[in-house]
Amino acid sequence: MILTYECRNCLKIFKLGVKACDRGELDQYHNGLKESCSNCSYENEIFANEVKAERSFYTKYVFLIALLIDIVIFILAYRNFPESIITRNSGRQYIVFAFIFIFPFIMSGLIVRNEDKAIRNFNRYYV
Ligand SMILES: [Zn+2]
Repeated sequence: MILTYECRNCLKIFKLGVKACDRGELDQYHNGLKESCSNCSYENEIFANEVKAERSFYTKYVFLIALLIDIVIFILAYRNFPESIITRNSGRQYIVFAFIFIFPFIMSGLIVRNEDKAIRNFNRYYV
């Protein structure tokens, strides 16, 4: 989760360099925060109620990362234990493989769900 604010002068959205779980915390610890706009150099005074939470860059691509992890696992497994992928002697082996491949996606799903919950929480309450 990242926190963003809109420049009052040029209306561009910028990432805020501070962290907070909710607007109460932001107001408490970063009250009177000033950010100079990197587009128009306008000095913005940041109020907690104007700050919005959004998904971080990392979370946007977390499923892509899961896919890459799977590809790497597959290549490593194929290079090191080709017989375990080629042989069809055990159904249990396939279940284990399926789990290994699904696991990064389960983790990604949890990360995204947690982040969305945190974002909703932040954006719902005003101070
Ligand atoms: Zn600006």
